[in-house]
Amino acid sequence: MTAEPGPRPHLSVVVPCYDEAEVLPLLEGRLRAVLDGLGVSYQVVMVGDGSRDGTGELLRKTSVGWPQLEPVVLARNVGHQLALTAGLDHAEGDYVVTMDADLQDPPELIPVMLERAVAEGVDVVYARRSDRRTDSRFKRWTAAAYYDLVRRGAGVDLPDHVGDYRLLSRRVVLALRMLPERHRVYRLLIPWLGFPSAVVEHRREPRAAGRTKYPVRKMVSLAWNGLSSFTTSPLHLATTVGASASVLALLGAVGVIVAFLLGRTVPGWASVSVAVLFLAAVQLLCLGVLGAYVGRIYEEVQQRPMYRVDQETGRRPRVEDDREEPPAGRR
Ligand code: UDP
Ligand code: MG
Repeated sequence: MTAEPGPRPHLSVVVPCYDEAEVLPLLEGRLRAVLDGLGVSYQVVMVGDGSRDGTGELLRKTSVGWPQLEPVVLARNVGHQLALTAGLDHAEGDYVVTMDADLQDPPELIPVMLERAVAEGVDVVYARRSDRRTDSRFKRWTAAAYYDLVRRGAGVDLPDHVGDYRLLSRRVVLALRMLPERHRVYRLLIPWLGFPSAVVEHRREPRAAGRTKYPVRKMVSLAWNGLSSFTTSPLHLATTVGASASVLALLGAVGVIVAFLLGRTVPGWASVSVAVLFLAAVQLLCLGVLGAYVGRIYEEVQQRPMYRVDQETGRRPRVEDDREEPPAGRR
């Protein structure tokens, strides 16, 4: 049985939770105090991401005493970004905040983000970590190098020191829902959408309880997902290597012919060497060409919008009508 949809809440808070049973009571205490004090209608979507420590059950129990809490319990662990997707799909609010469960993102910042969004009319408010001392030196260094790589390689204008704590307007949530791609990294996708944004600063606190759910393996996978969904340049590697190999093969062939003419070869060596060098170069070049087309297919499959109009002025182009009725000159 599904309930009738009620009026849309002003604010939704989406929290992915993987094995967070230890932290949930603490989160409930702090988050609820902030949200009840806001004086607006709200909804909290907590996504149990296939946890093994009873987080899903605890979410259901907590929702009995907290009517605004909607647990979305997933059948298996799908990872942080897809848990966020499930949460965003259930978020109905005019504004939607996404945050981690472990209280590293202080809930007390939510009123500040909401106020900024309403006052400045922006669609995204990023919470920037002004102090990353709670992160290890390794994490800070790899994050800085990665952000730099993404900025240059993928051409996305990423704000610094920004994670998954942010506020989105409903417009942004709807734009995200339009994207059919499966490998999503929201901290790249959202800046890429290019909605007007603002930044608020906060101190990143240590995890309130439990251990990190992001081992290096998951961090590497997130980094690769982010990069590979925004650039196909690794596919073009074969072209570059193939072109360099062709030049080397040509030089090698000249060397082989000279050695042949000087009589410093054993029979058969010259022809075999030239053939091997040439074939290796040709194969790499062909791989490069294939890579270029695979890259195109990948971009088509992602089906991202080709542009997004920020403000409409004047008349909308009547694309549908034009399709049915070609302009006079082309009839
Ligand atoms: N998380 C999740 N599914 C996963 C891994 C993590 O939903 O497979 C959630 C986790 O419960 C937390 C958020 O993602 O709310 C960020 O994880 P964590 O705080 O462990 O990452 P860290 O802060 O150590 O980078
Ligand atoms: Mg954390």
